[in-house]
Amino acid sequence: MSISENNMLKFKLASRLSKKEDSIVKVKGRPVGGHHLTVIAGPCAIENEYQMFSTARAVKASGATLLRGGAYKPRTSPYSFQGLEEEGLKLLKAAGELVDLPTVSEVISTETFDTVEKYVDVLQIGARNMQNFPLLKRAGKSKKPILLKRGMSATIEEFLMAAEYIISEGNPNIILCERGIRTFETFTRNTLDLSAVLAVRELSHLPIIVDPSHATGKHNMIQPLAKAAVITGAHGLMIEVHYQPEIALCDGPQSLKPEVFDHLMDEINRLHDFTTQSLKIKTK
Ligand code: PEP
Ligand code: MN
Repeated sequence: MSISENNMLKFKLASRLSKKEDSIVKVKGRPVGGHHLTVIAGPCAIENEYQMFSTARAVKASGATLLRGGAYKPRTSPYSFQGLEEEGLKLLKAAGELVDLPTVSEVISTETFDTVEKYVDVLQIGARNMQNFPLLKRAGKSKKPILLKRGMSATIEEFLMAAEYIISEGNPNIILCERGIRTFETFTRNTLDLSAVLAVRELSHLPIIVDPSHATGKHNMIQPLAKAAVITGAHGLMIEVHYQPEIALCDGPQSLKPEVFDHLMDEINRLHDFTTQSLKIKTK
């Protein structure tokens, strides 16, 4: 093991030192982690009722297991669409109930934590806030699962220490997400670090999923990288889907059309069956 046991004490509760077997996080009674494949899908940002409901219906029909949609958007430019805030959360909740899917949305501040917590089933802490320590501490007081995304320049150790903040405050229900890191490469939005899946699985008992949408910024790269993530052993995926990506208010170029997502679900379900079968054979 490249990180010594001494170093692992910095994220002791998140590490395999404190728990050997994989953690299963329950989202409204549904398991995330272990041999279960979780697929979080939906638009980058909630835009209006038609957009949210039609995308929700489509991703549910294709077999997504959680519905996403951003209501508080951490945008690089202050002039970009910032999200519908509480109105958006109401639409997401209604869409989730309509198609019977638990919901995920990002929380960007301690001030708005209570509001997001009231409406959604999983609270996302985004890459830009991975080391927002007051936010991590507040997440640790929540009874709801937290989807923690890797910071764009965070090492694996820093990523797991961010998770440790949440667990040490009392919330062990964490799903980690590799979403690409910033490198010198500019062809893609970020650089997908698939080896992080293997590193996290070695060091930690927490489930880890992969977000090829934010990792690449390119819709044509999502399908192959989603498949690679499943083969690598990710416990799931987060994929942006929009009923009409050309008119999306946020992240259209990296959003899949529903029919493309449908095809991808088919492929990854088959690959996941194959990987779990071959793991069973290996461990016999
Ligand atoms: C998102 O999931 O909408 C998002 C903003 O992701 P990230 O924090 O990974 O950039
Ligand atoms: Mn996005």
